[in-house]
Amino acid sequence: MYNLKVVIIGAGIGGLTAGIAMQRAGYRVEIYDRAQALRPAGAGISLWSNGVKVLNYLGLGEQLAAIGGEMNAMEYRSHTDEALSFVDLRPLFERVGQRPYPVARTDLQTMLIEAFGPEHVHLGMPCVGVDQDEHSATAIFENGERVSGDLVVGADGIHSAVRADVVGHCIDRRYARYVNWNGLVNADSELCDPNLWVIYVGDSKRASMMPVGGDRFYFFFGAPMAEGTQVAPIDRQDELAKIFQGWPAKVQKLIQAIDPEQTNRLEIGDIDPLERLVKGRVALLGDSAHATTPTLGQGGCQAMEDAAVLTRYLITTNVSVADALQRYEAARKDRTAELVMKARKRTSTIYGYVPEATQQWYHDLKQEPPEEVINALAKVILAGPMG
Ligand SMILES: Cc1cc2nc3c(=O)[nH]c(=O)nc-3n(C[C@H](O)[C@H](O)[C@H](O)COP(=O)(O)OP(=O)(O)OC[C@H]3O[C@@H](n4cnc5c(N)ncnc54)[C@H](O)[C@@H]3O)c2cc1C
Repeated sequence: MYNLKVVIIGAGIGGLTAGIAMQRAGYRVEIYDRAQALRPAGAGISLWSNGVKVLNYLGLGEQLAAIGGEMNAMEYRSHTDEALSFVDLRPLFERVGQRPYPVARTDLQTMLIEAFGPEHVHLGMPCVGVDQDEHSATAIFENGERVSGDLVVGADGIHSAVRADVVGHCIDRRYARYVNWNGLVNADSELCDPNLWVIYVGDSKRASMMPVGGDRFYFFFGAPMAEGTQVAPIDRQDELAKIFQGWPAKVQKLIQAIDPEQTNRLEIGDIDPLERLVKGRVALLGDSAHATTPTLGQGGCQAMEDAAVLTRYLITTNVSVADALQRYEAARKDRTAELVMKARKRTSTIYGYVPEATQQWYHDLKQEPPEEVINALAKVILAGPMG
């Protein structure tokens, strides 16, 4: 279809990637975000090869490579510092045709906003719902403003305001029973090899570091916790020191290296797979459509895939906007639901929902041949829209 006007709600990874893809198709795109200033939620993100391929396709590959870390292997170690597994990831890159890039979120967001054009991002605009008729879709904002286009894309994250209008009822986030702490530290070979993603696991917790551009490590910790706990930023280093007391020296060194004021602390959740991702001229995209626990590192990558697929159907079909959106839903619903459920299962294993299953997993890590790990990663990547 030609000359479309697209209204996107949400300037996160999903909304910005969709905006760039649709601009490249020649459409007029405006993005509206409730935030007064855009700040990424979290410090780093690992973009697996399927997400990277979407950005390559949009002409952003070289810029992404410049901000990405060179992660060539992954290693699991126990909380008693026993080596559990080591996987050279380079055969995976050969197999799927592209390496992944862990990146700092601010770098990724800056790259995406610059590519899209900040003048088309309208901040301080909380959307409260959508409306549509035969000819257009309209986003309704808290301040009473209404903005219409040929379609509205709800890329407004896990607590989406657009979602209820699409699915017909409210869907609440489901707490995944653990807290994630994350941030950035200067790269230091005494903490971790600069080309390695290391994950320490034990006692239903984990601690991890991976390289991102600018000689830094993105780190994260995860531990089971009841819902509703809050710890002031200044106290987060002490909190981690207590929770990970007795863990290996490199984990202790990491905790000493972090800046507690810059350490994010998040209660992690997801949503049940939705019955529908679109309604007429309104489409959900990214976390609003399929928020997932980050135990496969696929949430942001799936948002990028959504952006590519939605744009592809808008460009390549000519029946109607609603028809293109239906095709998008058909292409995305099962893939994203499957990954949400797979991540949920992995979350339960990592964070000890059934302690025996977690113990078994620690045991299995030592037995699992690296080829099987590569096969599993390749399967997810190659099933994406870019192959
Ligand atoms: C700890 C953690 C680690 C992760 N690690 C990875 C990883 O390694 N790899 C990976 O691929 N994914 C990862 N993810 C998932 C990834 O971060 C998300 O899937 C991705 O950010 C979703 O992007 P989005 O654009 O759909 O939503 P968001 O990034 O949530 O953006 C939504 C935007 O909408 C705006 N908004 C919300 N409500 C409204 C409203 N009513 N009106 C207007 N604007 C609104 C918000 O301000 C925000 O800017 C991780 C997630 C977490 C929590």
